[in-house]
Amino acid sequence: MSKAFDKRDGWIWMNGAFVPWESATSHIITQGLHYASAAFEGERAYKGKIFKSKEHTDRLFRSAEIIGIKIPYSPSEIELAKSELIKKMNFENCYVRPIVWRGGQQMGLSTNNADIHVAIAAWDDWHSYFNEEDRLKGLSLITSPWKRPAPDTAPYEAKASGPYIICTMSKQFAEEKGYNDALMLDYRGYVAEGTGANIFFIKNNEIYTPIPDCFLNGITRQTVIEIVKTKGFNLIEKHIMPTEISSYDEAFLTGTAAEITPIKSIDNISYNVGNNTTGYELMNDFTQLVNSTL
Ligand code: PMP
Repeated sequence: MSKAFDKRDGWIWMNGAFVPWESATSHIITQGLHYASAAFEGERAYKGKIFKSKEHTDRLFRSAEIIGIKIPYSPSEIELAKSELIKKMNFENCYVRPIVWRGGQQMGLSTNNADIHVAIAAWDDWHSYFNEEDRLKGLSLITSPWKRPAPDTAPYEAKASGPYIICTMSKQFAEEKGYNDALMLDYRGYVAEGTGANIFFIKNNEIYTPIPDCFLNGITRQTVIEIVKTKGFNLIEKHIMPTEISSYDEAFLTGTAAEITPIKSIDNISYNVGNNTTGYELMNDFTQLVNSTL
């Protein structure tokens, strides 16, 4: 078993300097912890280089701005910090987690005197969000009782910590029942996404994915859309009702951590998985793309 996340060796970039991993702490009285006053990123480096690094940094700044936080560094300083961290940790393939949060200078909901903190950590033993075996067999999903909220209820374009409690509760709901993940519907009842990944469906030459109008338009999602268009599939973004999903042949999740992960079932609906499927082919195309040094 890997070491607990708060007891590791190495370095964390924190507020402008590299500090030993175990010293990168924050006080218990922290606005970020109590009120989820935080935004973060999830990135992945392949062969020492973060895939779509600039896009992730831009999203971090956008997320922070949406929740009212001004990051006290420039995007290029964050870019540099990320690449230096990976070098300092001697990582080739790793997960990278920048986070920005309001600290303990001001408690309560007011943000007037808030102190803003930024940290970046990286680790290399979280190869897949789902374990490797599950990924190859395909994941089992159950529909969550929790819904993605309306755009005027939660900041859906921000990768902000607050809304993640819905994902955590959905994931817990699924895992307690023996499923790998949950399918989340949105406030209108349309199919939205997984708990930490976007969703796609395949039928013959057509690939369907929900319109990201109340959930994160993932960077992986956007990449996969490009891949499938280049490969000649007909990509259709539409509102998908849960009653429609039994008509699709295959389904898969996309995300930085999940990459492309086929789905074998949602509730009592089964999907094709395995070597001869389109999902498997796309999984390999994605691996090739992220590992190419272009
Ligand atoms: N939706 C949610 C809720 C997520 O947490 C993620 C992972 N960041 C995604 C979608 C996929 O986003 P990306 O491809 O940018 O990692």
